[in-house]
Amino acid sequence: AAKAAGRNRVHVFSPDLRAAAERRATLANELRDALVRDELVLHYQPVLHLPSGRCTGMEALVRWQHPERGLLAPGEFLPTAQAHDLMTPLARWVMTAATRQIAEWSRIGLDLVVAVNITAEQFSSGTLVEDVFAALSDAGVPPELLVVELTETSVAEDPERAAQQMAELRRRGVEVSIDDFGSGFSSLGQLVTLPAGMLKIDRSLVNYTEGHRDRAAAAIAAVVALGKACGIRSLAEGVETAGQLALAAELDCTFAQGFHIARPMPAEAVPGWVSAQHATAAPVALAAR
Ligand code: C2E
Ligand code: MG
Ligand code: MG
Ligand code: MG
Repeated sequence: AAKAAGRNRVHVFSPDLRAAAERRATLANELRDALVRDELVLHYQPVLHLPSGRCTGMEALVRWQHPERGLLAPGEFLPTAQAHDLMTPLARWVMTAATRQIAEWSRIGLDLVVAVNITAEQFSSGTLVEDVFAALSDAGVPPELLVVELTETSVAEDPERAAQQMAELRRRGVEVSIDDFGSGFSSLGQLVTLPAGMLKIDRSLVNYTEGHRDRAAAAIAAVVALGKACGIRSLAEGVETAGQLALAAELDCTFAQGFHIARPMPAEAVPGWVSAQHATAAPVALAAR
């Protein structure tokens, strides 16, 4: 039936576009099954606390272990989830899996602050705060071990309502972080209106190309200072070189994340990675000099 409907609209579709739409529809059906069959998996990327040089947290990043196509990155299936009303169940799966993981690590003496990426659908559902605290309480996890990351687009629909929910999350102990800061156009306004506690400076600023170090440094310094004036801590994302890490520390970022520190890894690899990291940890600003 879907195919027949597609054929009726064929005059606005080139064959290529139609093939692409059909592939997306197939992927959506597979994704619906994947949610039930537990084919999704979270990988975790370390967050480095620069003043101590210690890894203090992780960002949860979803992947899909597809039965035929292997491990898929979020860019390959989140747009499909969005287009086919699967974002809500997917987000719920992520929140449950992440909070259970925090609890599991706590049981072995590993207290890591875990950041979870939040979607526009979660904000507009009106139950974000309830959902977050239900997941925390089901897993037996204190709110201080959770960070929610949001982007400009995820709050765009109703910024005022988003701000209320963010304030409520923070009032009850869950940190709220603005992701990819500096990648949009109206970013400065966000700092004024959104009650965030953390800013993740987009990798387009952090991951400067050689020859642009001074301009990158000026941009990062401005963002960090702005954040500081608003009582917001900064995290440099997309740190890929020792030079970028040193710059982040020099410019007073509190945290850093990036391939130079570690790539996202399966949950099983986390305890070993963290204990090795803690064994040699030293303040980054000092180490870089
Ligand atoms: P994000 O939240 O900004 O996450 C950072 C992305 O940058 C991740 O890609 C990470 O692997 C990548 N990355 C980290 N360090 C570096 C680096 O040094 N260099 C470069 N080039 N890349 C780096 P990933 O895992 O493919 O995720 C892409 C985006 O998908 C995320 O961007 C986030 O917006 C979204 N996403 C991931 N997991 C979830 C999830 O569970 N829920 C939702 N709603 N969105 C998610
Ligand atoms: Mg993120
Ligand atoms: Mg980001
Ligand atoms: Mg991003």
